[in-house]
Amino acid sequence: MDLIGVETVSFPACRDDLSIVERGDTVLAGGTWLFSQPQPQVRRLIDITRLGWDPIILRDNGIELAATCTLSDISALTDRLVSSRPSWLAAPLLRQCCSALLASFKICRTATIGGNICLSFPAGAMISLVSALDGTLTVWRPDGSDYTLKAGEFVVGDAENVLARGEVLRAVHLPASALRGRTAFRKIAPSALGRSSAVVIGRRDSEHDGGGFVLSVTAATLRPFVFQFPAIPDASTLREALSAIPTDAWTNDVHGDPDWRAAVTALLAEQVRDELT
Ligand SMILES: Cc1cc2nc3c(=O)[nH]c(=O)nc-3n(C[C@H](O)[C@H](O)[C@H](O)COP(=O)(O)OP(=O)(O)OC[C@H]3O[C@@H](n4cnc5c(N)ncnc54)[C@H](O)[C@@H]3O)c2cc1C
Repeated sequence: MDLIGVETVSFPACRDDLSIVERGDTVLAGGTWLFSQPQPQVRRLIDITRLGWDPIILRDNGIELAATCTLSDISALTDRLVSSRPSWLAAPLLRQCCSALLASFKICRTATIGGNICLSFPAGAMISLVSALDGTLTVWRPDGSDYTLKAGEFVVGDAENVLARGEVLRAVHLPASALRGRTAFRKIAPSALGRSSAVVIGRRDSEHDGGGFVLSVTAATLRPFVFQFPAIPDASTLREALSAIPTDAWTNDVHGDPDWRAAVTALLAEQVRDELT
């Protein structure tokens, strides 16, 4: 779709060129959402895809994904990790989360992890990934400083996050300790390829990494909920933890009513617990 209000498109090549100051200045990443509907408030697009960020950096302490890394690159990483990092048992989760997005291969080759997280939709599949793998987000402030935070702190509601004017999501770090964990993934949607109504992911850390259990709930709720346990909980402990999700935090849209989402989340969480026990 043409964005008829756009007057300028900027292509910053380094951080110093990245000035997002005026109302109407808008970061452009893959553009799959920006160009999918009218954006009457947008006057200037600031294309961050020419900043030269390495999309994926593999280190012993984990993976750094640039905000501009595409979903198809993240999905392909699953196969790369099987040979290059066989101890990172969570590798399949990368592809599973990329597949939880209602999108064709054309969208996946263009959409970025940063765009998905910054949209902050409940069904943001990259938010599911980062929440389940204890990811840390790095945000650039316009004054040249940075700060880091977790996905659960970044997304604060339906399409709402903590980004202030001029701030840019720079990267996501997934720690090796979480990547070494065993994961179980469940997604439910009204149609096989439809937008997710609930995504429930469990992670059981190796004994070397403390043997803890993490359960993340996304899509079913307006923001991510992550529950951490020192070991695999029993069914009733898990149910009780889930009951802490406030009634008004369940997503309510055409993809499912809140009471249904709460019920299927409990069911999927028990399946995940059982699989990882
Ligand atoms: C067919 C289709 C299906 C989709 N299905 C889903 C779905 O199931 N679930 C879901 O959550 N979404 C879905 N989306 C939306 C999807 O999240 C986005 O298309 C995609 O992930 C956004 O990435 P992008 O790089 O294209 O972002 P863009 O469209 O470029 O940007 C999206 C928003 O994020 C901002 N932004 C982008 N990068 C940054 C950054 N690094 N720092 C600060 N702000 C930034 C932009 O200013 C804009 O407001 C779908 C879109 C399409 C077209």
